[in-house]
Amino acid sequence: MSKVLSGNLGYPRIGQQREWKKDIEAFWGGKIEESELHERLTTIRLNNLKIQQDKGIDIIPVGDFTYYDHVLDTAVMFGLIPARFEFNGGEVPLSTYYAIARGNKGAAASEMTKWFNTNYHYIVPELGARRPELTLNKPLAAYREAKEKLGIEGRPVLLGLYTFLKLSKGFDNDGWDEWIEQLLPLYIHVLRELQQAGVKWVQVDEPALVTAVNAEDLNRLKLIYETIKKEVPELSIFLQTYFEALSNYEDIVSLPIDGIGLDLVHGLEGNLDSLRRFGLPVGKTLGAGVIDGRNIWRADLDLQFKLLDEVANLVNSADIIVQPSCSLLHVPVSAAAEVSLQPVLQQALAFAEEKLDEIAALSRAVVEGQPGELFQSNRNALDNLSADPARNRANVTLAVENILHQPSERHSAFSVRKSLQKEKWQLPFLPTTTIGSFPQTAEIRSARQKWRKGEWSVQQYDEFINEQIRQWITLQEEIGLDVLVHGEFERTDMVEFFGEKLPGFAFTKGGWVQSYGTRCVKPPVIYGDVDFDSPMTVKETEYAQSLTSKPVKGMLTGPITILNWSFVRSDLPREKVAYQIALALRKEVEALEQAGIEMIQVDEPALREGLPLKREDWEKYLDWAVKAFRVSTSTVKDTTQIHTHMCYCEFHDIIDSIQALDADVISIETSRSHGELVHSFEEHTYPLGIGLGVYDIHSPRVPAEEEMISMVDRALKVLDPELFWINPDCGLKTRGLEETVSSLKIMVSVANHFRAKV
Ligand code: GLN
Ligand code: ZN
Repeated sequence: MSKVLSGNLGYPRIGQQREWKKDIEAFWGGKIEESELHERLTTIRLNNLKIQQDKGIDIIPVGDFTYYDHVLDTAVMFGLIPARFEFNGGEVPLSTYYAIARGNKGAAASEMTKWFNTNYHYIVPELGARRPELTLNKPLAAYREAKEKLGIEGRPVLLGLYTFLKLSKGFDNDGWDEWIEQLLPLYIHVLRELQQAGVKWVQVDEPALVTAVNAEDLNRLKLIYETIKKEVPELSIFLQTYFEALSNYEDIVSLPIDGIGLDLVHGLEGNLDSLRRFGLPVGKTLGAGVIDGRNIWRADLDLQFKLLDEVANLVNSADIIVQPSCSLLHVPVSAAAEVSLQPVLQQALAFAEEKLDEIAALSRAVVEGQPGELFQSNRNALDNLSADPARNRANVTLAVENILHQPSERHSAFSVRKSLQKEKWQLPFLPTTTIGSFPQTAEIRSARQKWRKGEWSVQQYDEFINEQIRQWITLQEEIGLDVLVHGEFERTDMVEFFGEKLPGFAFTKGGWVQSYGTRCVKPPVIYGDVDFDSPMTVKETEYAQSLTSKPVKGMLTGPITILNWSFVRSDLPREKVAYQIALALRKEVEALEQAGIEMIQVDEPALREGLPLKREDWEKYLDWAVKAFRVSTSTVKDTTQIHTHMCYCEFHDIIDSIQALDADVISIETSRSHGELVHSFEEHTYPLGIGLGVYDIHSPRVPAEEEMISMVDRALKVLDPELFWINPDCGLKTRGLEETVSSLKIMVSVANHFRAKV
């Protein structure tokens, strides 16, 4: 082995205190000038670089910082501005940049979608409106800045052309060649300028290479990377992949590239297998992604040290870079501030800063041939955590083992339940309901603050919540809804609410990660065995039910959504953690049923978010995800009606799994792609109860009656009217009071319109 270095691939933009978010939002709000924004963001950017420099990282990425999103940056760099925004060439004004991301008075924002299997969302580039042109060499500017200001010889980061096109829209398969022809010269221009400025290595991110790559794709990749080598021969290309094992390893490593970065955490099995079988072509550098860039736990450095040793043997004398499995964008900034957590937990955390320490320590250890101090302290921290009683609840382990081998079926099939439920509930044709939450007004938020700060007693707060419930039960009766809800006024967030009540969860103070644009989330931490303590939702639901003779639906967040929106412990398979949550929720479901709440909705809006990147892995995930839901919901009486809710529209490719949930009723967000969803039911008859959202709750607009009528009309052509429900798309938490009442009144009159026809 000739050389071992430490490297990073990308750093969180948001700053320790989310300064980044606050500064950008201050600018949007007109509170600071553009020049001030540039100054502030420059400070954050340089500080981020300085941290990496101070930690002793040899290879520091530059150009990964952004004012919103790195995919948008790439599109803007190449002048790919959608036609509805004004643009006359040259540098793209910041106002245009933000208009693409957020929309403006005259034009809608570009679409936003999930970045591979993470919770980060990027702006989808829209190609086709304009001829691309280079508006700014962003990596070059970043390279120069780091060198001048901090003396850092950074490694510029560029989103690779192949992945960029895979993520873009506005052209079809035939358009690929044309777009490569148009964009490749611009990429080469950027790279040539970098080479001229003295850059030796460039990090080209091609995460799309871990998804399916076919023969046609391979030809495109060859064309791209062969042309780059020919045109910019002096520049070394470090092709970075992440989130999974590289597909077509042998073909990809034989491209004319100088280094390849592999995820040896999430793609460990596949990548290691490839390295064992094919090694690495002589002269190429290997980026060994051994520190998990997706979780918040300290690494078992002894284990990773061994792994590096094996890898080094497989690649003979190649240079090796010890690096994270992906950009550190997906983890919070620093765990040092989490002093209010129990020490045993806090000491086991590694956010971005701590991960840099691990990378530096590992690469030093490989060079010196022996472990350093951090190895021991990580070992102690991990040992202490695994010995913690919170991780060793024998009852939970036993219960999970038991359900692994048990079926999770309802007592009777849906065909039987259907008639029993029909008789019990006596609902009208096309029953109306809502998804759970009602507007969370400023008054509600301020009441919660008072209670959290101790200004209000528990009783005072409970009474306030009950008052909201009362008002909304009355309102729902006035509106004429058939199945009511209590309104979720006591919840800020559908996962946090349950996490705070379930043993096994912890909450950080500053564990923020970027979700999209300036929106950051602070996922709960599942660190221990999840257990049921006492009923979490019975009190409010029971109270609501006591006020009305109409049924009130209980409202829970499902096991998979709780799992997918949390940071999960890494010592257990996700499947088992899901079952732990599912078993705790089962007890809540049973408690509700016992309290006389016999319609219970278990929301799973994030079911799809856990889908693996590789299609061949879908089935395994869906099997246990479906089972977890059923574990939560299957022990109830036949007459108890289980509802579920999902809010995404791509439904057709997992429709069998959704059906396998065996929920008596599902409500799905529909309005934004109604046509598509209805279309999937033309090909697939759905045999259970279903409500397709009849209006979009993301906008304050009160929908017209005709719009809802046409939605229902189309749905009833392909779905059994006897099993059809009428409901909005999603919860109404973010809406105003008046628009909510008006919209729901129209919705009820739409139901009446159809009832009058039968
Ligand atoms: N019951 C939840 C609500 O109404 C569902 C939210 C969601 O689907 N994201 O707010
Ligand atoms: Zn929803």
